[in-house]
Amino acid sequence: MSILSNIATCKCPNCRKSAIFNPSKGYPLRIPRMYERCQNCHYKFERETGFFFGAMFVSYALAAAEMISVFVVFWYFFGLRPLMVFILVAIMASMLSTFNFKWSRTIWIYLFYKR
Ligand SMILES: [Zn+2]
Repeated sequence: MSILSNIATCKCPNCRKSAIFNPSKGYPLRIPRMYERCQNCHYKFERETGFFFGAMFVSYALAAAEMISVFVVFWYFFGLRPLMVFILVAIMASMLSTFNFKWSRTIWIYLFYKR
């Protein structure tokens, strides 16, 4: 698999087989739980204390890109009123927040992964 599909599916950067996040059961929008180490190769995901602080900036970039995309689609192409566009952007942002959490941490892990 390519790196992009490994990031999209949140796989370990070392072995690329095991998941980084514990699969959530029940409520889908809760904050995802991370494994401390890979279940397959025991690679430690949090390299140092506060390592995932930088993932916040990746999450910000992902959220901004998603919001701008939804804004452009519904404002320019569908011509919806500003309040409706705002409501759609807010709904989309809350629905994608857990995915942004997972993807931003996974991207951050892959950015600093060294073989
Ligand atoms: Zn692994």
